[in-house]
Amino acid sequence: MIRLPAHAARAIARLEAAGFETWAVGGCVRDSLRGAAPHDWDLCTAARPEQMQAVFAGERVLETGLKHGTLTLLTDGGPLEITTFRADGGYSDGRHPDGVRFVGHVQDDLARRDFTVGAMAWHPERGLYDPFGGQTDLQNGVLRAVGDPDTRFQEDALRILRAVRFASQLGFSVEPETAAAMRRQAARLDCIAAERIREELTGMLCGRFVQRALMEFADVIGCVLPEVTPMFGCAQQNPHHLYDVWEHSVRATGQVPAEPVLRWSMLLHDCGKPACKTVDGNGVGHFYGHPKVSREIAAQITRRLRFSGEDSARILLLVEQHDRPLGDTDKLVRRRLSRIGEGRFRDLLAIKKGDAVGQGTHPEDIAWLYDMETRLNRILAADACLSLRQLAVNGNDMVSLGLSGPAVGEMLRALLDAVIDEQADNTRDALLAFARARMEEQHDE
Ligand code: ATP
Ligand code: MG
Repeated sequence: MIRLPAHAARAIARLEAAGFETWAVGGCVRDSLRGAAPHDWDLCTAARPEQMQAVFAGERVLETGLKHGTLTLLTDGGPLEITTFRADGGYSDGRHPDGVRFVGHVQDDLARRDFTVGAMAWHPERGLYDPFGGQTDLQNGVLRAVGDPDTRFQEDALRILRAVRFASQLGFSVEPETAAAMRRQAARLDCIAAERIREELTGMLCGRFVQRALMEFADVIGCVLPEVTPMFGCAQQNPHHLYDVWEHSVRATGQVPAEPVLRWSMLLHDCGKPACKTVDGNGVGHFYGHPKVSREIAAQITRRLRFSGEDSARILLLVEQHDRPLGDTDKLVRRRLSRIGEGRFRDLLAIKKGDAVGQGTHPEDIAWLYDMETRLNRILAADACLSLRQLAVNGNDMVSLGLSGPAVGEMLRALLDAVIDEQADNTRDALLAFARARMEEQHDE
């Protein structure tokens, strides 16, 4: 039994009153049946786009994709996407249907959908319509292609990554024939746009069951992220590590909060290790310089997958700095904080925790990271001066002292360093005295 929200029930009633069969369909039915809150409600209907427009004349309607039969009705309860029952034509490019055909029956519409659990429809009076056994698969936690899996993945290779994403988000197992077809057709992913690959991978990385999905479908992921494949099976030969580089990275990824930048950074933090590996005379593996190489490889990925400049910069910073000590004194922590800011500092802490747990050897090593967090919170609560803005003097004061041009900024930065290192108090008098003394020193040199 599904309880439709009022805005969806009302739209269905309006279309049906005008003589057009209409259902709730897809993700909202799947999520309702598994007891999760749907993030949006989609309807499908026998009405053609122009007929929908007539039914909703005078309401706020967006022409989202009229050619494909989709419009969006803006209601008080949120946007509703409504699509005419359709069947897709051929897929000569493995990406887009050559054309869409509006069809009369909801069954044909469900047949074009990718997985059985997303190919169910619900109606407040007629109940569940489930011609492909979606409910049974849902109960068993199985992801199964609608129809012949090879054909479906040949039509649209993106479905292969959608399957990995759903496996990661829902924790479902992929039915063996479907999984085998994903592997057979994975090479076709090369015709999918970079942005769509990025979005599916990001959704997959942020899933609750990401570790299982990454381990099970490593080969599929390697087709869209060839840079990670050298990690597969790369032994660390090091007492600090229980797992090979890939499994370590996967375990670490599952440890950090489900935030895209953190998950991507964790996945890629060691991708430079295989290229840096050396084995010493005792048979112990070393990976000198790997953070920098990881950063270069990660940069290649963020460029190719067209990450925003901001996300890319955050990911690359975390990858490059994941192994660098954060400092074990207040002074060092303040310095670091002043350089990268609180947000990045906390990101780094999360990455270091993930890394430590992912190593699987010495869980007691993690205690110091919690101590670090306490130290960080204490420093922030004390309102320590960490930026030029917080200094008790400004550029005008430096000009009054007789400085000009770049010397002004240089002096302010020197004052900030002095405050952070506790060589000067952050008061106007102390800083002016410090600046004068420094100017005299420089004058004498
Ligand atoms: P979520 O919104 O939680 O990611 P969803 O199942 O709603 O999951 P959408 O991408 O919103 O996924 O798509 C809505 C429905 O449209 C899906 O349930 C599926 O039936 C169908 N669908 C979406 N993309 C495809 C595709 N590439 N091939 C076939 N069917 C698809
Ligand atoms: Mg959806």
